[in-house]
Amino acid sequence: MAQRVHDVAIIGGGVVGCAIAHELGRSRLRTVLLEQAAEVGFGTSKANSGIIHGGHQAAPTTLKGRLEWQGNQLWDALCAELGFGFARVGALTVALDEADLPALETLEHHAAAKGVPGVERWSRARLRHAEPNLTKQAIAAVYAPTTAVINPYEACFGLAESAARNGVEIRTGCAVTALSHDGEVWTIATCTGPVRARFVLNATGTAAARIAAMAGAGEYRLRYRKGEEYLLDKRLQGLVQHVIYPCPSPTSKGTLVIPTYDGTIMIGPTADEVLDADDLATTASGAERVIAAAQRLVPGISERDVIAEFAGMRAIVDGEDFRIGPTEAPGFFDVAGIQSPGLTAAPAIALMVADLLREAGLDLDDSGPPLPPLPPFVHFAGAPIARQQELAAADPRYGHIVCRCEVVTEAEVCQAIARGAGTLDGIKFRTRAGMGRCQGGFCTSRCMALLASELDVPLTAVTKRGGDSWLVVERDEGMQP
Ligand SMILES: Cc1cc2nc3c(=O)[nH]c(=O)nc-3n(C[C@H](O)[C@H](O)[C@H](O)COP(=O)(O)OP(=O)(O)OC[C@H]3O[C@@H](n4cnc5c(N)ncnc54)[C@H](O)[C@@H]3O)c2cc1C
Repeated sequence: MAQRVHDVAIIGGGVVGCAIAHELGRSRLRTVLLEQAAEVGFGTSKANSGIIHGGHQAAPTTLKGRLEWQGNQLWDALCAELGFGFARVGALTVALDEADLPALETLEHHAAAKGVPGVERWSRARLRHAEPNLTKQAIAAVYAPTTAVINPYEACFGLAESAARNGVEIRTGCAVTALSHDGEVWTIATCTGPVRARFVLNATGTAAARIAAMAGAGEYRLRYRKGEEYLLDKRLQGLVQHVIYPCPSPTSKGTLVIPTYDGTIMIGPTADEVLDADDLATTASGAERVIAAAQRLVPGISERDVIAEFAGMRAIVDGEDFRIGPTEAPGFFDVAGIQSPGLTAAPAIALMVADLLREAGLDLDDSGPPLPPLPPFVHFAGAPIARQQELAAADPRYGHIVCRCEVVTEAEVCQAIARGAGTLDGIKFRTRAGMGRCQGGFCTSRCMALLASELDVPLTAVTKRGGDSWLVVERDEGMQP
C-alpha cells in the first residue's frame, strides 16, 4: 500500500516545533510532528528561565529582535486558549553604577524603535519603594511592564495538545535518522519507520546543523552555550516582584533574579560555551558565579536557599541571530539557531514559517472558526477550600494527596496522564508533583504506581524522562540482595 504523504513534517517538538504545529493545526494541512524524546518540550524548551522578554531586549535590526516583540504580544491570546501559567509581572534592568547607564539607554532605544509601550526610567527612590530587597547600590533602572513569566513546559504541552486535537499527528519517541528527496517528496527515516512529506521543517534545536547536513540542505556551524539555573526555597516567595536583570553584555542578558510563575525564585542562567550539546551538568563554578551575581542584585539570597538546579543549552549560529528560511534542499526549511529569546518569539516564528510555506505554494486555508480552548487543568492547591471540598466530594481521588510539598492530588496526576504525561517528568511538569522541598522523596513511588496502573504497564517500564531512564529494574537471579 502506498504510504501516506503529509503536507508538512516538523522535526523537533520544542516550543518552536510545537508552536508551528499549533499554527498549522488551524489549517486543513496534513501535518506530522516528529520528536525523539518521550514527550514534547523535553529539550531546551523545558530548561530555561521561563521569561517572555519585554520586547525591548534584542536589537530591532535583528530577526530575533523583531520576533521577540511580535511573539511577546501573541502570548496573551495563547494563554486564554491553552490555559498555561502566564503572568505579566514586569521587569527591571538595574544599573549599579554610572558605567551601566548607556546599557539602559540602549534598552530605551530598542523599546522606542519597536514601539514597546510603557518602558520607562525609574529613579533610585522609586526602585527602593517597589523592590525593598534590591541592593542599595542600584542607582536607576529601566522598567518594562510587558515582561511576563510563563511555565514553558505547560506551554509546549498545551500547544501540542491543541495541535493534536486539530488533526496534527504528534509522534514522540520518534528520532529522525536520515532524509532523502525523490524530486517531489521527502522520505524521513525514523526509529519507528519512514514518514513521507512534501515540506520538512527543521526545528531540532542543538541538532539542527546535523539534520540539515543529513538532508543536503547546506552546511553551517552551531555553537552551544550552556545556561545553569538555580531554584530557591519557596519561603523566599515575594523576595522580588519583578524580573530583575543586570545590565546585559553583548552575548548574555546576565544572571537574573526571577519570580517564577509558580511562586518560587529562580536565579540564573550562566552563559558558557561548551563543545558537547549534551553536557547538561551543573557545576560548582556555575553555582558560585550565579549566586554571587544574584547577591549583587539581591543581597539577601544565600546558597543555603538553593533546592534544585538544572542546565539548558542554547543553540547559536554564527552572527548570533535566528536562522529561519528555505535552504538549498527543495522544500526543506531551517528554523535553527533559536537561542534566547526563542521562547518569547516562538508564536511569531510559527507565523513567519506559515508565511514561508504559503510563499512556497502550500494552501494554508485557515479561514475556519478559531480553535476551541483546551479544557482547563484543575490545580487543587490553588483552589479555595469550598471548591476543594466540592472536588473531593465529586471524586475521592482529590482527597488523596500524592505530593505533600506541592499538595498535588491523585486526581490531578491521573488527569495529567490522561492528557499525555507518559513519564515522571511529564507528571512533574504538568502538576508540580516532585518540584517541592523534598524533590520527589515522598511522591516518586506514588506517581510511578499511578503511571503503571493508568497506562497498564509494569513498574519496570516506567521512566523518569523516557529512553533508558528507568527507576526500577527486574530482579535477575544473579543479583546481590
Ligand atoms: C538557560 C536558558 C535560559 C533561557 N531563557 C529564556 C527565556 O527566559 N526566554 C526566552 O525567550 N528564551 C529563553 N531561552 C531560549 C529558549 O529556551 C530557546 O530559544 C527555545 O527553547 C528553543 O526552542 P527549540 O524548539 O528551538 O529547541 P528545543 O526545545 O531544544 O527543541 C528541539 C527538539 O528537537 C528534538 N530533536 C533533536 N534531534 C531530533 C531528531 N533527530 N529527531 C527528532 N527530534 C529531534 C529534541 O529532542 C528537542 O525536543 C533560554 C535558553 C537557555 C538555555
